Amino acid sequence: MQNKDIEARRVDAISRGVGVMTQIYAERAENSEIWDAEGNRYIDFASGIAVLNTGHRHPKVIDAVKAQLDRFTHTCHQVVPYENYVTLAERLNALVPSSEPMKTIFVTTGAEALENSIKIARASTGRNAVIAFTGGFHGRTFMGMALTGKVAPYKLGFGSMPADVFHAPFPVEMHGVTEADSMAALDKLFKADVDPNRVAAIVIEPVQGEGGFYVAPVSFMKSLRALCDQHGILLIVDEVQTGFARTGKMLAVEHYGIEPDMVTMAKSLAGGFPLAAVTGKAKIMDGPAPGGLGGTYGGNPLGIAAANAVLDVIDEEKLCDRANSLGQRLKQRLESLRDSVPEIVDIRGPGFMNAVEFNDVKTNLPSADFANRVRAKALEKGLILLTCGVHGNVIRFLAPITIQDTVFSEALDILEESIKESRVA
Ligand code: PMP
Repeated sequence: MQNKDIEARRVDAISRGVGVMTQIYAERAENSEIWDAEGNRYIDFASGIAVLNTGHRHPKVIDAVKAQLDRFTHTCHQVVPYENYVTLAERLNALVPSSEPMKTIFVTTGAEALENSIKIARASTGRNAVIAFTGGFHGRTFMGMALTGKVAPYKLGFGSMPADVFHAPFPVEMHGVTEADSMAALDKLFKADVDPNRVAAIVIEPVQGEGGFYVAPVSFMKSLRALCDQHGILLIVDEVQTGFARTGKMLAVEHYGIEPDMVTMAKSLAGGFPLAAVTGKAKIMDGPAPGGLGGTYGGNPLGIAAANAVLDVIDEEKLCDRANSLGQRLKQRLESLRDSVPEIVDIRGPGFMNAVEFNDVKTNLPSADFANRVRAKALEKGLILLTCGVHGNVIRFLAPITIQDTVFSEALDILEESIKESRVA
């Protein structure tokens, strides 16, 4: 089968609302490699958008899912519960930094995790308002869209958003917003728009994912924690993209020395199976009445089995350490290009959650064109890259942390060539 034939059928059959970044059709995949319908091989630096920290089809994950398939695939935990759901909840409860008892719920997608975190925050505080950050991404459901700090394309044409959701600027110093500016904006919000005593929660990604891999400073997260404590506001940390060894820790919040009230998780939690979670302080998680939370597929047995295996793999293969050493190699290679590629204006990110940002050399303005040229050239050479950022001028790297050394070296060579060749487009 030819990619272009399937592509023509896709255009006829699928809503254009579901954007597609490549026109290669997956046939099979293994760890950090994908083969398409024509037999071409690609190195996967996208991981299905941060889902495959443990790689495509990790043998332990596949074995766990096969074993689960042979036992049962669905009962609905709300009807007939199962033990591995409880085990996974216990494991996540132990993972989130907290001096208090924790509890968990399972849902299916990241957006649903965010929806539920707001439901829980409202039910447990009796307050309504929510604050999120510009450039943040929290999903495509109505509350997910409302929390998301970017209009196009996420909110375009979708009508009114849920009320009482406010945005403060995320601190990105290289784009002119300091940490002090962000804190001052929150203060202004409390004076001009919303009484802090009406705010149920502040939601933040410790490293913005879709927004551009901008890292929240440690002092900023500590200030947010203090502000929340001062006004009785809950701090919700969205770890959907940062979770599970990507930043060199199991959760990015561990870099900050603070206790979140709730954490939302999805993506790499279950290594390619749809599973998401909200873990938070027990007294908060018990806010909603019985029956108020859940969903038919929430905590599906296959996803739960996969996630228990993913946590084992991260531990056994020391993927946090490996994320740090792979990230170092990647950043060093990018640094070595700085002199010959003046378009590179920033190289950043904790662990293996790294990004490179490009400006136009003439205008010194963000260059989405340059980032897109790099992405297209890399794809021609067999490396799948993703862009991101409010200006679209950032390439983000989300390769499996299990990537083989030889494949990683090959990918770095392709990346270097693609960046260099993008200069003379
Ligand atoms: N939060 C963050 C930080 C995300 O990166 C994403 C997905 N990119 C979501 C929420 C939404 O997750 P999902 O696509 O599984 O609904």
